[in-house]
Amino acid sequence: MKYVDEYRDGALARSIAAGIAREANPNRTYRLMEFCGGHTHAISRYGLEDLLPVNVRLIHGPGCPVCVLPMARVDMAIACSRLPEVTLAAYGDLMRVPGSGGSSLLKAKAEGADIRMVYSTLDAIRIAEAEPGREVVFFAIGFETTTPPTALAIRSAEKKGLKNFSILCNHVMTPPAMRAILDGASEGDATPVLIEGFIGPAHVSTVIGTHPYEPFARDDRKPVVIAGFEPLDVAQAILMLVRQINEGRAEVENQYIRAVTPSGNLKAQAEVAAVFETRESFEWRGLGFLPRSALKLRPEFAAYDAELRFGLAEALAKDNPACECGTILRGAKAPRACKLFGTVCTPDTPMGSCMVSPEGACAAHWTYGRFRERARADRRKEVA
Ligand code: SF4
Repeated sequence: MKYVDEYRDGALARSIAAGIAREANPNRTYRLMEFCGGHTHAISRYGLEDLLPVNVRLIHGPGCPVCVLPMARVDMAIACSRLPEVTLAAYGDLMRVPGSGGSSLLKAKAEGADIRMVYSTLDAIRIAEAEPGREVVFFAIGFETTTPPTALAIRSAEKKGLKNFSILCNHVMTPPAMRAILDGASEGDATPVLIEGFIGPAHVSTVIGTHPYEPFARDDRKPVVIAGFEPLDVAQAILMLVRQINEGRAEVENQYIRAVTPSGNLKAQAEVAAVFETRESFEWRGLGFLPRSALKLRPEFAAYDAELRFGLAEALAKDNPACECGTILRGAKAPRACKLFGTVCTPDTPMGSCMVSPEGACAAHWTYGRFRERARADRRKEVA
C-alpha cells in the first residue's frame, strides 16, 4: 500500500468489517475509545460505525486540541490580543472557540484586536521579523504532535535574536489524559467511563513512540492499538482490539507501522525536553485540572513566555451549562445527547469547542453522522 486510495478501498473495508463481525462475540459488548479527534473524523466521514456489529461501540475521546482547551485559556488569549502592542497569531480553528460571555478571537478581531490566522509557527516568526514594532504572540496549542514545531520556533527566534516573539503555551500530553479517563477524573462526575481498549493516536505516536502506552496495557489491562487516520487503518485497529479482548490479551500493538516506532522520534523528543518542562497542573475542558499533563517553557526561555511577559493571569471561567462538551470529551455521552446539538449549536453557531474544530466530535457528527445515528440506534433495537 503506497497511495491514499488504497487505504480507502471499499472491498478491503468490507472484508475487514466481515472479519470484525465474525470474530466479535455476540454475547458481549466491546467498548473501544478512539482517543484522537482525527480518528473521530475518519469514523464519521467514512461511516465506519455502519460497518460494525452493534455490540462493537466506539467512544469518542478527548484528543482534539481545540476541544480540550478550557474557556479560561481562551479568555487569556483574548485578553492578550487586546493589549495594544500585541499581534496574536493563531491557527484558524481557534478563531471561533467560545470564550466567556459569548466572546471569541473572531469577535475580538472584529472589535479591533490584531489577531492573524497562521498555518504554522514559522508564519508567526515571519510576522515578528517583518514587524519589529509589534509584540507577536503565538497561541500555541496541541498534543505532542505540534509541540516540536513550537520548540523549533523558540529556537529559531533565539537564533535570529527576535525580541518581539513569544508564545502563549497550551501544549498538553496524551498519556495523562488517558490516565484521567481510566481513573474517572472529571469536572463534577467521578464515574469512570467503561472502556475496554484504546485506538491510540497516530501522529502523537510518531513523536512519543509506543512505549508511553505500556502502563495502560500492563497495569490497567487495557489493550492499545496505535492506528493511522485512514478508514482501513481504523478498521484494522478495531479488529486487532477485538482479537486482543477475545484472547484475554492486553498489549500495545502498532497498526501504524509505516510511521510509528517503539521509541518514536528521539530528536523531536530531545528538542521538546530542551525547551519545555512539565507544568504541575493544567486545566482540561471536561477533565478538570490534571497533574503533570501539560508543558510550559523552561526558565531559560522565560523571555519567550507571553504569560510572564504580559502578566497574563488565568481567571476561572465556567462553560455554558447546557453544553455537554465536558461529558463528550471524557466519553460519557455522545454528541446527540446534548440538547443543543443541531438546534442552537451547529458549526455556524458553535456553543462549545466540540462543534468548532473539524476534529471535534460534535462537528464530525454534524457534518457526517447526524443522519446515520438514528439508523444505528434502530439496528441496536432490532438486535435487542
Ligand atoms: S452540540 Fe454544541 S453545545 Fe452541545 S456539546 Fe456539542 S459543542 Fe457543546
